[in-house]
Amino acid sequence: MRLSTITNYAYGATVALTLASGAVMLMASSAEEKERAAVEQRAIFDQLTATLAEDAYRQTEQARAYVITGDPSHIIAYQREKAMLRSVEQRIAHLRDRGASVSELAALQQGLHWADALTAEQEAAISAAQRGDGETARTILFGDEYGRELDRIAAQIGKFQYMLDQRTENIVSQATEAARRWRFVSEIMMGATALLFLCVLYFILKQRILRPVVRLSDVVTRLAAQDYAAVPPDFPQVDEIGDMAQAIRIFRENGLERQRLEQERDADRITRDQLSRMTQRLQGCDCTGDLVEVVRRFAPEIAPGFAGRLYIHDARRNMMVQACDWLTPRESGQEFAPTTCWALRRGQIHKPTGELIDIPCEHFDAAPQIRTICIPLSAQGESIGLLYVEEPEDRTAEQIGRTEKYLEMLAENIGLALANLRLRDALRQMAMADPLTGLANRRRFDAVFKEQVAHAENSLSPLACLMVDIDHFKRFNDAHGHDAGDAVLRAVGGVLNDALREKDCAFRLGGEEFVLLMPSFAQDQAIDRALQVQQKLQALRVHHEGEELGPVTASFGLAVFPEHGRAETLVRTADAALLRAKNQGRDQIVIATIRDAASHHA
Ligand code: GH3
Ligand code: MG
Ligand code: MG
Repeated sequence: MRLSTITNYAYGATVALTLASGAVMLMASSAEEKERAAVEQRAIFDQLTATLAEDAYRQTEQARAYVITGDPSHIIAYQREKAMLRSVEQRIAHLRDRGASVSELAALQQGLHWADALTAEQEAAISAAQRGDGETARTILFGDEYGRELDRIAAQIGKFQYMLDQRTENIVSQATEAARRWRFVSEIMMGATALLFLCVLYFILKQRILRPVVRLSDVVTRLAAQDYAAVPPDFPQVDEIGDMAQAIRIFRENGLERQRLEQERDADRITRDQLSRMTQRLQGCDCTGDLVEVVRRFAPEIAPGFAGRLYIHDARRNMMVQACDWLTPRESGQEFAPTTCWALRRGQIHKPTGELIDIPCEHFDAAPQIRTICIPLSAQGESIGLLYVEEPEDRTAEQIGRTEKYLEMLAENIGLALANLRLRDALRQMAMADPLTGLANRRRFDAVFKEQVAHAENSLSPLACLMVDIDHFKRFNDAHGHDAGDAVLRAVGGVLNDALREKDCAFRLGGEEFVLLMPSFAQDQAIDRALQVQQKLQALRVHHEGEELGPVTASFGLAVFPEHGRAETLVRTADAALLRAKNQGRDQIVIATIRDAASHHA
């Protein structure tokens, strides 16, 4: 029930009670009035009846005095007394008018009739005395019979007075009792009114002030402890408590906003931490495989719920090839041509299914039902890959926007790392390769040779090493210039590179010295291969600036593990054999001997 309804009822009840208690007070005062009237009536009755008995006595006195003394003044006094007495009816009528009851009046009437009878006897005695018959007169007035009559009259009047007293006494006591009762009821009603008023006052205080204040202070305490689930009650009243509730509501809204901003900032910090950790990991990557693994692990953390794929450009086939995916993306395939993606064409982020209308990429099977984002990975203006993600459906535009920012940073970092890796590969390639012939260089040879030696010795598989040195190479330089010498070197390099199917087995050690490493080649196979190379070189015709340079020959030193000693000394052994080939007239293959192997120990 509403507070105003309750207070209205209470006001109504208070008014009703006040009116009722007023009425009761009126009743009480009317009862008191009755009491007063009863007392008054009794007093009047007392007054009216007090002389009745005396009258009879006084007449008897005067009659008796006359009979004894014969003094006529007593006759006059007697006649006066008698005249003063009115008739029985007159007296009774007077009392009836004053409210005496029928039975009371009957009792009185009896007494008065007896008094009238006595008067008759007195008059008889007086006339006897006037006649001189004093004896008869005295007999009448002083006889026992007369005395009894007189007492009977007194007793009858006494009875009447007693009845009257009894009745008025009852009325008075009843009126007193009623007045007392009404006063009591009136006092109770006054008390109840006061109590009700106090209750209403207490109720209003509690409802309007105490309870709202307690609730507000509870909310304030919880809000101070950053418990924003505490909602301030809605007090619409226009007073201090309403103002307080409004102020607390604003305080809570501010707190919530601050909390939201803090959460956003925290989330942003965490994501940026992850981004920077990912960047560090990316910088530590040695190969694309490492990079792909880092992206696969970090991408779903940085953009939670966004399924995606990382594509890397395969320059040889000019295709974007998927390197990894996460959270099972639905659209886009394993590989596609770069021109089918609008992000790659424009070198910009592309969201075909965003709010603005746009063209979907062609690397989807059909126009995708989900929202997709393509972000190109570029380095020095060249697209080297693509980050493709699918937006989860349960995000708000604001959340998507925030994540998109992270995705762009992610793409930038991946692009940079990928570019670095490529650059490093290129540098490494350059460091390991001889730029003139394209063959691997001495540094590369040292590394490969070490590996091959370890492998051959561990698995006891054969390993052949063929040293090649162009004969009288200086003459090409001297006769045709340095460029011509270079042309010869390139041609020889080409022959050596084609000599073996295996990769990474022909090296240019420096100048016009080359080496062929032939893993798992036994001596006979190695000799055959050396002969083939020798023949190819002999058949080689090198042209430079339109003129044909002279024939190219070379000297060969061949050493084979395990025939010619330990694997790690193969190079020196082959060198020794090569030296012998030079000394023996060049353009020949010399197979190492045990002596060659031992020579460098000497
Ligand atoms: P031999 O038959 O005894 O090996 O005689 P050779 O002339 O081939 O050997 P030598 O070691 O006397 O001469 C090697 C020359 O190769 C010396 C150097 O000028 C030349 N040379 C070294 N590197 C290059 C190069 O990259 N290009 C050119 N054009 N010449 C080079
Ligand atoms: Mg040389
Ligand atoms: Mg030489």
